[in-house]
Formats: sequence, structure tokens, C-alpha cells
Amino acid sequence: MIRYSTMSDYKPTIGLEIHAELKTRTKMFCNSANDPNEREPNVNICPVCMGHPGTLPTINKEAVKHIIKIGKALHGTVADFTEFDRKNYFYPDIPKGYQISQYKYPIVSGGELKGVNITRVHLEEDTARSMHDENDEYTLVDFNRAGIPLMELVTEPVITNAKQAGDFARELQLTLRYLGVSDANMEKGEMRVEANVSVSKNIEKGIKVEIKNLNSFKIVEKAIEYEIKRQIKELESGCVIVQETRGWNEKKQATFSQREKESSHDYRYFPDPDLPKLNLSKIEEFQNVELTELPWEKRERYKKEFKIKDEDIESYIYDPTLASFFESAVSHIDNKDAIKLASNYITSDILGILKTQTYDISYEKIGMLDAKDFADLVNMAYSGEISSRGLKDILSKALTEAKTAREIAEEHSLFQKSNEEELKKVVEMVIADNSKIVDDFKNGNEKVLQFLVGQGMKATHGAGNPKILAKIFKELIK
Ligand code: MN
Repeated sequence: MIRYSTMSDYKPTIGLEIHAELKTRTKMFCNSANDPNEREPNVNICPVCMGHPGTLPTINKEAVKHIIKIGKALHGTVADFTEFDRKNYFYPDIPKGYQISQYKYPIVSGGELKGVNITRVHLEEDTARSMHDENDEYTLVDFNRAGIPLMELVTEPVITNAKQAGDFARELQLTLRYLGVSDANMEKGEMRVEANVSVSKNIEKGIKVEIKNLNSFKIVEKAIEYEIKRQIKELESGCVIVQETRGWNEKKQATFSQREKESSHDYRYFPDPDLPKLNLSKIEEFQNVELTELPWEKRERYKKEFKIKDEDIESYIYDPTLASFFESAVSHIDNKDAIKLASNYITSDILGILKTQTYDISYEKIGMLDAKDFADLVNMAYSGEISSRGLKDILSKALTEAKTAREIAEEHSLFQKSNEEELKKVVEMVIADNSKIVDDFKNGNEKVLQFLVGQGMKATHGAGNPKILAKIFKELIK
């Protein structure tokens, strides 16, 4: 009997290579500005980054520090000794005929993120930006990007599926942003992901294919998934996998062959004789590099300190301004248990409003609502002074009006009525108007109580305290 292989017989192996443009004042080896927002082409250039003969590069220390920070954050080993190498190749976007990169002595070796081992993190320079005309008649080159400091991070081939690759890349982006070393916007090309994908049925690794130009996390995942399926299909039909570089075609939702892969000896790497070697462990300013709170540390702290839902925590992790608004509100909240309530209102109600309306948001203010006032509002709802409905009404007004939450609550009589005598009259009226439902309740249908309380709330324009209303209903209907 012939046994056909299935998809699940194949084990995918994925490694990532991620480049990120570093945020620095000047370029990697010269004084030209590092300004990714410059619209005018070829203005941030000088003889050094244009590769004119006779010029000498100098090392940007800020960029070196950025890589050290990344290495420390990822628990990698920062090298005692490091140097820069020339990676030789010819292409219009590389004016010197080589890229200054690192080969034998990267600044960082090892490390780990989201359970994925990191091989190395090194520093190099970006290339110029080529713009190909639609009809393939000419190519324009903008050298503003040439020489911008670039991080290259390489993972071990230990990733086993597309989702894991996407999650790794997302967490790395977050980490770079927390460290303040890169904006790492994928749409802007500030962070670029390449994936090496192979599949194999036995312990031996398959032939790896490199997929380039993946400019969103979704595309990273889609391209890897597609590539795994394609390779399995090729092998199943008796073909061999060609070691090559492929790109992603968004229209066809498929990868396509670009060129056969060159190997590292094609680049004739050798140490750049124009640059000094660095004994990092002997240079004080490279030793005292401080880290900020990292995404996973913040997750841990929020979990412990505030005991809020993971989902809420993720909203704050991805939106540090919202997170600091939340934290400054928390400092004004009376009862620890009300913190969850506060978080709920921020992540569902306020974020809901922010989806359709734009407000300035800072660590202490969203629109006209400041964090302390928001905390007051939550305190009032927690103690039952106002209802949850009332809070929501006040919230939407407080974002646009220069009044305190308390003033708005008074103005719209949103303080809950807890006066039993007063509420009793309301309940009697509701009972008189709903005799059939009252009978249902008498006959044991507990569910209709909600409806009756709702009628009571309506009669008080939302101001009745629902707990007290329910209590009176139960007392009066017997
Ligand atoms: Mn590179």
C-alpha cells in the first residue's frame, strides 16, 4: 500500500532577519542629518555618505549605544571587542561599492525574545532608496537614506510557524519603541523583515528560501504560510527546492522568485581599514547604558499592581500615553477594587469614543477630561453615587466640556437617588402600570425583575439607584 505524506509530516523551520533604522541626529559615519521625514530627495547628503574618494568615515557613538541597549534588553552578550567590515557588492543604491557592516565581531551575540533565540545583533549603514518607474524605463535614487544607522538582528532558525514569526516581529517593534532607539514603522520601511523558510520530513534541514520585502506583520505571516505550503507541494510532486530569494506579490497573494541567493563569500567581507576598532568594555560611555521599562516588565507590573485583564494590559502596552493616563488616574482612586472598573471604562468606553472622535491625549488629560477628574467619576460610580449609565453620560460630556465630573453630574441630575421614600413612589407607579408583569414575578419568574427595575430607572431618568429599586420591588410585590 502506498502511504501518501500529508502536510503535517513536514516540519517548517523559520529564521528571521530584521533590519531597523535607528533614531539618531546624524547618519552612521558622517554629519548628514538622519531625517526619515525629509521629502526633498538628495538633501541630507555629503561627500562621506556619497562615497567620494578621499573621504573618511567616523563612528556615530549614539548608534553604537542604541545597539548595546537592544542587546541588553534582549539579554544578549555585548562584545568586549567589535569592528566594522566592508560588504562588497555593486548596486546603484550603494555609492561606495560596499556597505559598512559587521561580520566577525557583531556588537551583540545571543539573546532571546518571546522564547526565540537570537543569533546576533549588529550595526551597519542603510542603502539609498531606489524608485523604479512604472514602465521599467528608469530608476531614480534618493541618497537621503544612504548611511542611516541600521540595526540587523538575526534569529536562530527555531521558529516553527507563521504566527510565531509575526508575534516575534511585533514584540521586537514594541521593544525598539520602548527603548526609544527606532520608530520601526513597517509601512515607512523603518523596520524590514526577511524570513528564511524551509520544510523537512526528517531531522535534516531542508533547503532554505529567503523571502524579502515583507512590509507589514500580516504580510510576514501570509508569506511564510504560503511558502510552507508551496515548498511541501513542490517536494510532494517530486521537485527540488531551489535556494533562492523570493518576494511577496500582494495582488496574487503569493511569493515569487527574484534571484538565486548569493552566499557570504561572494561579498568578500574584510575589516574596514578606515575605521577604528572598538574595545567596548574599556570605553566608559558604552558601559553605562541605561534601560527603560520594557514591554514584558510593564505587563508583569500591571498584572501585579493593578490586577486588570490581560486584554486591558495589551491596550496599555501598545499605547503608552493611554497607559500613563490610566496610571495617573489610578493614583486618585480611593478603593483598590475600583481600579478594574477604571480600566474597563478606559479600554471600552473611552477607547470606543476615541475610535470615532479625535481628542488630544496626554498622560494627564484626554480632551477636557483630566485623569484626576476621571478618577473622581470612577469613585462616584464605585460608591453608588452615580450609576454606570450615568458615568457613561458624564464621560462623553466631560471629554468636551471644561467642567468637573461632579458639576456635570449635578447639572444633569445624574446623582443616583437612594432616598427610599422617594423611590418607593416610583416603584408603586411602575407596579400600577405593569400589572401583568408583576403577576409573572409573583408566579416565580425572577427574570422580569430586571425589566421592572429598568422601568424604574426610566421613570427617574436614569437617576434611581438600581440596587435600591430592586430591593423595594421585592418588598412591595409579595
Ligand atoms: Mn543587513
